[in-house]
Amino acid sequence: MIPAQINHYLNEIKKYAQASNSNAQLLAVSKTFPAQDVQTAYDAGQRHFGENYLNDAVEKIDQLEGLDIQWHFIGPLQSNKTKAVAQKFQWLQSLDRIKIAKRINHQRPEELAPLNVLIQVNISQEPQKSGVLLEDVELFANQLLEFKHIKLRGLMCIGESGLAESQLEEQFLQMKQKFDLLANKYDAIDCLSMGMSQDYQQALKSGATMIRIGTGIFGHRSK
Ligand SMILES: *Cc1c(COP(=O)(O)O)cnc(C)c1O
Repeated sequence: MIPAQINHYLNEIKKYAQASNSNAQLLAVSKTFPAQDVQTAYDAGQRHFGENYLNDAVEKIDQLEGLDIQWHFIGPLQSNKTKAVAQKFQWLQSLDRIKIAKRINHQRPEELAPLNVLIQVNISQEPQKSGVLLEDVELFANQLLEFKHIKLRGLMCIGESGLAESQLEEQFLQMKQKFDLLANKYDAIDCLSMGMSQDYQQALKSGATMIRIGTGIFGHRSK
């Protein structure tokens, strides 16, 4: 089941790659699912996993220590919880406050590579959603330069639900434009993370380099 679903999404990614000439990456969002499911996906070749709930995630990371996994924190992050992200993860996709960046820069262990970060963009400008507004992204990116233990890799957004397909694509294309602009300006920018189980096709069409799939791989979450 899990391996077949992973294969399905890898094939979907290939299908859309012809337009953009390169394969997007698949992030398997394992939040609420046990370490055993991560192991099953890992055995099928999956290496990038996304988690939202910190305590839950740290438990899994410890259980699976020694595996060659890239862990991505993709959920809301309170500033008093940054230490676990700095110590246990390779990626933070939901960065939207300088205060968080500052703390992580300080808490990232010296012996680890810089934490890869994506700036979360509130592309739909919904007041209840986290993220930096699109027009503030460059200023925000510029402020990250001083942090030596953080490496800016790109942008992330969560698509607005209930939008017509064309409107959704319009928002994803705005992300893509901003991403291209950053990529011209900064060295390490190579990740545009957008698209989930419901809207990954529109995201791939619009140039996503990473899609984040939970339900489609692991099934429905009970929480
Ligand atoms: C839960 C979650 C996903 C995966 O969502 P599905 O609809 O289950 O594929 C992707 N990105 C973020 C930020 C999430 O919180």
